[in-house]
Amino acid sequence: MSPFHKMTRHQLHKHPLFLARAEFLDVEQRIQLAYRRAKLVLQTWNLSTQDVRDLTKKFWDMYSDPLYILDGAAFNVLVFSANLYCGTVAPHASKRPDLARLVEQGLNGDIIGTFLLTEVGHGLDTHSVETTATLIHDGFIIHTPHPNAAKHMAPTTPIPGIAKWGVVFARLIAHGEDHGVHPFNIQITDEHGMCPDITSSRLPVRVGAANLDFAITSFNHVHIPSSSFLGTSLDKPIDPYSLLNKYIWRIGVGSASIPLDAANMVAGAATISTDYSFRRHVQRPGSGVVPVITFRTQQLPILQAVASAHVLRAWKGSYIDYLLQPNNDPREWNAMGFVFKATVTRLATHHVVRASERVGAQGLFGHNLMAEWEMDLRAMSIAEGDIVVLSIRLFLNALLKKLVLPEPSHSEALLSRHASSLFMKASSILSSLPDGHRDPGYNQHILPRSESAVLALGHAFAYSAALDSGIPPPLLNLFEVMCIRQDEAWYVENAGLTQVKISEMEDAALTAAVPNLTHYVDSLDVREYVSWIPIQSDERWEGWVSKIKTFRPEDQRPLSVAPKERQISAHL
Ligand SMILES: Cc1cc2nc3c(=O)[nH]c(=O)nc-3n(C[C@H](O)[C@H](O)[C@H](O)COP(=O)(O)OP(=O)(O)OC[C@H]3O[C@@H](n4cnc5c(N)ncnc54)[C@H](O)[C@@H]3O)c2cc1C
Repeated sequence: MSPFHKMTRHQLHKHPLFLARAEFLDVEQRIQLAYRRAKLVLQTWNLSTQDVRDLTKKFWDMYSDPLYILDGAAFNVLVFSANLYCGTVAPHASKRPDLARLVEQGLNGDIIGTFLLTEVGHGLDTHSVETTATLIHDGFIIHTPHPNAAKHMAPTTPIPGIAKWGVVFARLIAHGEDHGVHPFNIQITDEHGMCPDITSSRLPVRVGAANLDFAITSFNHVHIPSSSFLGTSLDKPIDPYSLLNKYIWRIGVGSASIPLDAANMVAGAATISTDYSFRRHVQRPGSGVVPVITFRTQQLPILQAVASAHVLRAWKGSYIDYLLQPNNDPREWNAMGFVFKATVTRLATHHVVRASERVGAQGLFGHNLMAEWEMDLRAMSIAEGDIVVLSIRLFLNALLKKLVLPEPSHSEALLSRHASSLFMKASSILSSLPDGHRDPGYNQHILPRSESAVLALGHAFAYSAALDSGIPPPLLNLFEVMCIRQDEAWYVENAGLTQVKISEMEDAALTAAVPNLTHYVDSLDVREYVSWIPIQSDERWEGWVSKIKTFRPEDQRPLSVAPKERQISAHL
């Protein structure tokens, strides 16, 4: 047995699979690497069916692991295979040994589970799914009636040596009638290739992101047995809309898991940009050589990222405690997950972009991670609940009082007062609209306020959690001013602040934080995950440069058309 089999889960970043330099691999190899890494993670964490079904602490701990900042594609596999697929099938396991076995295989990485809901023509309007499942005497015929009904995104292409299964959402047609959209368990690939009558077209790689085999999947009259049906009943549902929402409840779990990785990216970006800014020196007239961290223009965005990383870590802790409480109201649980996702993902995007700019040209390359995170975060803002659309739905339900959200623990804090004021303002606009939320004025005046209100609430929750956890005051203050800056006018109009006062608050917080920057970054505790990237040290950089493709005069070749160039011409 190799020594790596004995590694604890916290050492996986030192495993050869995670030390492999993905930038030196081609797309095919990178995709396979992502699946192999995901399998290694699954085998190390060893989740049980019960962990996935009941959402135990171990389940959330697995998704909180900072390891995934090294490979967003492997994280994606864990989300759709362990959460979406296994999580949807797991509740059936107690009565169906065949499904129990599939879930066990999925959680051990012996099969890959996928989740096929979105269609080319239907994304957020999931209730319009057009893939059909026609009831026949011994099962169903699954069919893609036209190209726009093909499933979009789910990574369904064959991976050598490992079968893929899918929960496929299709409209049940029974005796010629539409019986609503239901989940079906279908084998998509085997160890060698696609299963009969199923086609998967791999989409070209997403710009800048970790590579995965996102695809367009079509079914051509695929005959499946009756046991594939994972729905509650073949009868026509009374409320097909609510039923589909129940079937896809694991998307809410995905919404809650994804930001755990995004929060780790903030800590990673804070660490990389700090370390670079101490190492990078420039000549300054009169002062000799100084590190770039000397400049306020580095200090502010970097310390803001450090502050957010600490705040988000505190919020993450209290949020997971909330998730683990028994008897949470499911609507509130989903809404809290969504506030968490929207806020963390937006904050992470803000910090990763700014921190990556502060390391100059180095920040543009995937091998230094931050540029890749930027694109991974773009995807996170869409997958498992699009931030804009879910904000609209959450805000509407809150305004209509169909949903009551808990209050941040410090309701008197400035950020909490701001959030509550945005909700009250929208509520008063709503009550002035003749046709309420169906009035055109709702679209015009309230829709555009939805996301900022949800984010304001998220900032208030994050701030309260950080205050309760006792993070250093300079970091808490920096976070608070950064949030204030997102809606300065409100604070000037309603909280007695002025622009000058806000700048003074920011300056005071930053001045107090700067001397402790190294300590704050060390205590984020993610350096060992990013220490191997080329930008982190001279030694890493030199070792890495020696591996990249280099052209020397002695390598000159005749000026003929090289094979690769011929391949390009063939596509013209
Ligand atoms: C990385 C990644 C992985 C994914 N993996 C899977 C997977 O495994 N399985 C799967 O089934 N799907 C998957 N998806 C697809 C994902 O679920 C959809 O992209 C998502 O639901 C949005 O659908 P869409 O892209 O078709 O956007 P659209 O529905 O076309 O929406 C585009 C935009 O239109 C606007 N909009 C749409 N509806 C409304 C509305 N009602 N009100 C206001 N504005 C609106 C919003 O601005 C929205 O962002 C994945 C997506 C990503 C990015």
